[in-house]
Amino acid sequence: MNGKHEFKKKWGQNFLSDNNLLSAIVADAGVDGKTTVLEIGAGAGALTKAIAQRAKRVVAYEIDESLKGMLDEALAPYPNAEVVFGDFQRAEFAALEERLGSYAVVANLPYYITSPVVLKFVEEAKNCTGVTVMVQQEVARRFCAQAGTSDYGAITAAIARKGEAKLTRGVPRSLFYPRPNVDSAVVRIDFTKGGFAVLSPKAYRETVRCAFLSRRKTLENNLMNTFRFERETAREIMRAAQIQEGVRGEVLTPPQLGALSDTLVRAGVIKS
Ligand code: SAM
Repeated sequence: MNGKHEFKKKWGQNFLSDNNLLSAIVADAGVDGKTTVLEIGAGAGALTKAIAQRAKRVVAYEIDESLKGMLDEALAPYPNAEVVFGDFQRAEFAALEERLGSYAVVANLPYYITSPVVLKFVEEAKNCTGVTVMVQQEVARRFCAQAGTSDYGAITAAIARKGEAKLTRGVPRSLFYPRPNVDSAVVRIDFTKGGFAVLSPKAYRETVRCAFLSRRKTLENNLMNTFRFERETAREIMRAAQIQEGVRGEVLTPPQLGALSDTLVRAGVIKS
């Protein structure tokens, strides 16, 4: 890589160069010659190149226009790779999805937008088959956590509604340049596996927020606080959703949160 690039911390610029790791990430994502890939944050193009070698096509967003020269050079042999310069978070998402058709996301995400970007695909994407991302290890554990553990939270539940999340590999900080202060991991969220339907995704989000409102309180108390229920009403709702009395929200599995959300919708407590 050209040593002249001035790395910008504000954009989470920690680049990869280990070819074995780069092709392992693309393999983890299940990319093959039929896959269109959307990458967020092309950097100097190391991952973009590894994707282009396997995929049908890759469209990569990059916010830092000063990387243009390096990207042009790195991607010159790959006519199936296209770089869009701009802020991915400002992209017209519906139009982008239409342009891509069915696609998978593969990215070494800038850490400062990890959660909003992942949630965007979980909540809004129509044509996305899955998201394979390098994130900080601690965040990776949260994405894949089991109910009742300290890593389990609202983001775990949001992801689980849409697909199956698996941590595919840990990546030590020494493999990035500049070297960050934390280790990372790759997570694949497969939208074609796992996941479940709810009557209203919006109601599910509100239910999840309620369940994790105060982690130390029981679900019953969080329901009472969120929806201004009497204790007996909270208990009735829980019984209807087949949830045991006395539990804390953080022990509910995502499908149980889904059942609770559907019950609240049917009872007219949350409008869908
Ligand atoms: N893919 C490269 C690699 O693996 O070596 C670079 C990964 S680096 C962690 C993240 C990249 O995302 C940086 O190049 C940064 O400039 C870019 N970036 C940061 N915020 C962005 C945004 N909002 N939209 C598009 N790219 C962004």
